[in-house]
Amino acid sequence: MAEPHFRDGSQNNHKSLPKSSQGGDTSCFSRFIGISTVSGKSRAASARLPSWFTQKIPKDINFIKNRLRDFENAKLSTVCKSAHCPNINYCFEHNSVTFMILGDTCSRNCNFCAVRKGRLRPLELGEPYNLALTIRNLNLQYSVITSVTRDDLPFGGASHYARSVYAIRSLNPGKRIELLIPDFRNSRAALSLVIASAPDIIAHNMETVERLYLTIRPQAGYRRSLEVLKNIKEIGFAGFTKSGIMLGFGEHAEEVLQVFADLKEARCDIITLGQYLAPSLKHAPVKEFIPLEQFEFYRHKALEIGFKAVFSGPLVRSSYKAEEVYAQISA
Ligand code: SF4
Repeated sequence: MAEPHFRDGSQNNHKSLPKSSQGGDTSCFSRFIGISTVSGKSRAASARLPSWFTQKIPKDINFIKNRLRDFENAKLSTVCKSAHCPNINYCFEHNSVTFMILGDTCSRNCNFCAVRKGRLRPLELGEPYNLALTIRNLNLQYSVITSVTRDDLPFGGASHYARSVYAIRSLNPGKRIELLIPDFRNSRAALSLVIASAPDIIAHNMETVERLYLTIRPQAGYRRSLEVLKNIKEIGFAGFTKSGIMLGFGEHAEEVLQVFADLKEARCDIITLGQYLAPSLKHAPVKEFIPLEQFEFYRHKALEIGFKAVFSGPLVRSSYKAEEVYAQISA
């Protein structure tokens, strides 16, 4: 394995990209990327994007559009679209999708996230049934369900999560379900509701290292998120837990390794690592494109620590190829 590229630990995280991670064509997603330059000014990165960023043109663009229209007609949101996920073409073509429940508007204001913020709407009570029916129509073998954060709802909307799992199970017996939950302010009552519905995996993302929480996730808490993962196991969840972090915010390698250690202590089973891509110039800028060999280095380190599965690479997102990760861990 090639030597990992570490930062030097200094305060200057605005370094030029290493040659190995530059070049390549830009895709239609380039308009979403903000990069901090050495001078500290943000600019759109129309050039110097790493080669892995090149996206294949979808075989059938109408298929992607029609699928999005179907979800809209079923009054369902997906994080694939709402978060401008770079994998949307690949995932849709492989019959993967991550649904986003509890509406399309978030009650928090994280600096990395493209999901709409603002006036919150009442819950769509038919959402669990619409979700279950859509999963059946698409013949999804493995469903990933996430949500916006809804601090305005009782238990943060945890009962809606549970209703969604029950509805999916009743219309899709034997199919797997992964939930990617918000922190529910670490309410044990909320977590118990979700756990009682018995999904196969419960994920909660750390997103970044402890030092960067105030700038990246100002309304969340690093320790609180760790407690959520710990509590899921303590309350008695029998399935796997999973967490993910994004790289490229300006974190140092030793801080990433500390997240691994903390997650291990919280008895987390699966970890995912991906490259952060800024949704717009108003969001936190990409401070660095992480070289492939450093993703590989982290993968080895996480496996050494003892995680049951580690998925590490620039395009990895918490839900990317989730079915494969589940198959690997449960084999
Ligand atoms: S990685 Fe997840 S969020 Fe992105 S397109 Fe695939 S299923 Fe959707």
